[in-house]
Parts: sequence; structure tokens; C-alpha cells
Amino acid sequence: MATPQVPKLPKRRLGNTGLEVSVMGFGASPLGGAFGHVDEAGATAAVHAAFAAGVNFFDTSPYYGATRSETLLGKALQGLPRDQIVLATKVGRYGLNVEDFDFSAARVTASVHESLARLQTDHLDLVYCHDVEFGDLDQVVNEALPALAALKAQGLVRHVGVSGLPLGAFRYVLDRAPPGAVEVVLSYCHLCLNDTSLQQLLPYLAAKGVGVVAASALSMGMLTKVGPPEWHPAPPALRAAAAEAAALAESRGQRIEALGLRFAFRQPGVATTLVGMTTPEMVAQNVEAVLSALDDKAPGAEEADKLVAELEALFVARGVKDLTWPSGRPLP
Ligand code: NAD
Repeated sequence: MATPQVPKLPKRRLGNTGLEVSVMGFGASPLGGAFGHVDEAGATAAVHAAFAAGVNFFDTSPYYGATRSETLLGKALQGLPRDQIVLATKVGRYGLNVEDFDFSAARVTASVHESLARLQTDHLDLVYCHDVEFGDLDQVVNEALPALAALKAQGLVRHVGVSGLPLGAFRYVLDRAPPGAVEVVLSYCHLCLNDTSLQQLLPYLAAKGVGVVAASALSMGMLTKVGPPEWHPAPPALRAAAAEAAALAESRGQRIEALGLRFAFRQPGVATTLVGMTTPEMVAQNVEAVLSALDDKAPGAEEADKLVAELEALFVARGVKDLTWPSGRPLP
């Protein structure tokens, strides 16, 4: 008997980069232990399950688990065809505090070489300046981006982006960087059930020809049954509303994770959305949720959309919709 064909995730073009990325990307920050310990075998199983389901976009950083995420991802990727993988990492962030950021040309260049070694590869498909709002934004423009452009000319880096929380930081950098210096923006926690503020920036990013990666569809674990980790920066009222939303979903026999993904993956204007996953089971659940979100004719679609709308309304009613938290230095 023929093996049944499991549907795979579709891909989309990422801005003007020419890269084709799966609609759901694999967020590897949890491999660094941000949500609990993950061992090498577990990390490899999750990465391989994601690839088998059509995920070709993998996102990491030297910051995640103080390089552990890159190391584990690098090992896991050894078993997969490199030319079918879009591998993204970051430079400039190495810890929690302002002094742990360094967007100087020398550090950026060294960082890329260190990441290449840990990821066991000869090129990086995409390198972002990580959480630019903690650095000197002018240094990002005047040192980090030119250093990355030089690494691009050497073939070590294929494409360049910036990541961060406050949306204003993207405008600051993009208004000052030469055209093409920033090809991709990674925005997190701004395109999920409780926060859709990224939508307001999308026309500007489209006009600049910048590809958009949305990250943290589950708001860094806040939109899960187990709730956010200790370190999660959401204010208490937002955490409380998220817990209420999870309980409401459960009372209707639904999983908050699936509904959160449904909401995020039905948002227009982004090429791909990153979700942090640590087990093959999580990968399978999330792939199913994403495929169902993308299919208007999926069984139960109308009912699911109604519940998702109810959950979004809950955040509005509690006065926490689009509520964010301080991150980095005040914008200049
Ligand atoms: P997320 O919103 O994707 O949530 C991850 C959490 O959700 C983890 O605890 C995971 O175990 C849990 N989860 C996922 N699927 C689940 C399921 N089916 N059932 C139960 N729990 C489930 O948050 P994230 O990992 O922070 O964001 C995704 C990725 O985006 C990161 O891993 C990272 O690669 C990237 N990111 C980048 C930045 C940045 O550049 N500044 C910031 C945030 C995230």
C-alpha cells in the first residue's frame, strides 16, 4: 500500500532577497534553554521533524543559550541537505544587559566567523543585527551594516536584516541605511492574538522593498497552556488576559496554541512567521494548525475563526490589546 502523502508547508518569497522560505520558520531560541533544558538528541529530532514537514527556514543567534542554540542547530543540520536550508543567525547581542551588545565592525565580523564555525557551514543565508534598540542605532547603520555588506561581498553572508521589539527602531535604521543594506526585518511579539501593531508598519516596509519575518506567534510562550516563562517581560494585566484566553479556549475544547497560530498565520503581509519548537510532537501540532489556518475550507474553519475573534476581543476588553513593554534605549 502506498504511504499517504503528508501535506508539507508552502513557501513564500522573502522580500527582494530571492529566498523562498517556509510560511512557518523554526525558531531555535528554545534550543538554548529559554523555556527549559533541551538535549542534543531532542534538538535534532525537532529540527529533522520540522524539515520533513517542509520547514526550510531556521533562526538562531549566538545570544540564545550563550551559543548553545547555534551549536545544537549546527549539529542537527549536519544530517540535512544544506542547499535546501535557509539559515539565519544574528550579530551584536551576547547577553541581557546593554553592555552585552556590540555593533562595532570588528565584533560583527568576528561574530559571523564564530557563528559559521558553530553552525558548521561555509555561509549564512541571512544575518540580522540582533535587537538593535539596545545598541547605538547610528553604529548599527555606520558600522554593523557596512561590515555585513563586506561579509556579503566575500560570500560568507547572503542577506542582511535587523531585528528588534520597538517598531520605531526599524524606521530609524531604514531611513538612514543605504538602499538594499537592510533586506529583511524580524519583528517579534507584534503579530499575535494580543498585539497586531506590526500591521501599521507593513506598508512602509513594503515601500522600502524589505521582507518581513514575524516572530513569536505565541508571544514567547505567553499564549500557551503552561503560560509564559518567569523572564517574560509582559506586564501583569497582559499575562492575566493571556491566562484568561487560554482558559476560555480550553473551556471550548480547543488549544490556545492552535488558536494563536491560526490567528498569526491568517495575518496578511508577512513572508514567514517563526515559532519556537522543541519536540517533533510540537512540530506536528503546529504544522497541522498552520495548514488548517491557511485553508479556508478546512473542517471547522468558521467556528475556529469565531473563537479566535472572541479571544482577540478579550484582549481589547481587558485594555491590553497592543500593550507592549520597554526594550532597550529610548529611541533617538
Ligand atoms: P514563540 O511565541 O514561538 O513561543 C515559543 C514557546 O511556545 C516555547 O515555550 C514552545 O515550547 C511553546 N510552543 C510552541 N508550540 C507549542 C505547542 N504546539 N504546544 C505547546 N507549546 C508550544 O516564541 P519564541 O520562540 O520566542 O519565538 C520564535 C522564534 O523567533 C525564536 O525562537 C527566535 O528564533 C525568534 N525570535 C527572535 C527575536 C529577535 O530577534 N529579537 C525575538 C523573539 C523571537
